[in-house]
Amino acid sequence: MRNLIALTACWLAIAAAGAADPAPYAPPLTKMAQANINNIRPSNPQPIGGSGAGAASGTATGAGAPTATGAAKFGAKPAAKAPAAPKLSEREREEQAEAELSAKIAERLAQMRANQAARAAAAAQARKAAAIKAAAPPPRANGTHWGYEGEFGPANWSKINADWAKCSTGNRQSPIDIRDGMKVDLEQITFDYRPSSFNVQDNGHTVQVTMGGGNFLSVGNRMYELVQFHFHRPSEERINGKGFEMVVHLVHKDGEGRLAVLALLLERGKPQPAIQTVWNNLPLEKGDVTAPSIVLDPNDLLPQRRDYYTYMGSLTTPPCTENVLWLVMKEPVQASPAQMALFSRLYPLNSRPIQPASGRIIKESM
Ligand SMILES: [Zn+2]
Repeated sequence: MRNLIALTACWLAIAAAGAADPAPYAPPLTKMAQANINNIRPSNPQPIGGSGAGAASGTATGAGAPTATGAAKFGAKPAAKAPAAPKLSEREREEQAEAELSAKIAERLAQMRANQAARAAAAAQARKAAAIKAAAPPPRANGTHWGYEGEFGPANWSKINADWAKCSTGNRQSPIDIRDGMKVDLEQITFDYRPSSFNVQDNGHTVQVTMGGGNFLSVGNRMYELVQFHFHRPSEERINGKGFEMVVHLVHKDGEGRLAVLALLLERGKPQPAIQTVWNNLPLEKGDVTAPSIVLDPNDLLPQRRDYYTYMGSLTTPPCTENVLWLVMKEPVQASPAQMALFSRLYPLNSRPIQPASGRIIKESM
């Protein structure tokens, strides 16, 4: 083909040069030129103008120009010679197809490389995520439901919620068996209680009475305000191994948030008026809160004698917070069997087991 192209180019160059000569030469040239034009058209396209014809003529003329010029000069009718076109077009299509194929191949290769890179990146990311997941700690326990038996019982409190870890890890936990106390001249607890508004709630763990403000106890140069009191059955604390039928815990807080809990042990005896007031105002539904229009005097709960035991402990329910000052009155408070029976219908058992004293100092009034 290339040879033919070169030859054709040469011929065209010659023909073009011949056209400038006198007419006698024209007829034979015309015939020959026409024949060659027909032959070379297929391979003539652009390249000829650029390389073959251009090189031959020494000019960079357009591809079609020489042919058309030549044909026109020799009276050719290009339009009538259309049948030659398919051969040229075939070559063009061939080259075009080649070019298109090359482009497609290049495009496909680029796409494959891009896909490969994307897959590699995704795999790397997945490996990284897996590594992070493997290194990450297990999800934090954040349950809120706890009780006194089975799966949700005291032995499992620390597993229910990560914030309740002290229930297991603490070494200043309550309640304890109060024994071997150091008998000393303990300072008197000063009570500044008064008849106050209150509300009552069965919170699902106990019956709790929340007090209006203004009730204080003072001990150790600190003044604590009564926040609420509630009941446990049987008593959580023991005295020299002895338990009681129930206990009342009066929870106090000072200005810095320190807690002091006063424990009143309950034994069977005569009816207790303050406890009766609470029972009278018990809501019908768990979770509901009653806000009676009457007042309750916390002084009515206190025993005659004010001797007590004291030690540092914790809340006896989750989160088992430590650094709680415990004040356990030595003299039990009486409540009637009917009053105790009423509570036992709601909470037959809501006491945390005894915790290790772990060598804590216990003091008691002489
Ligand atoms: Zn309590």
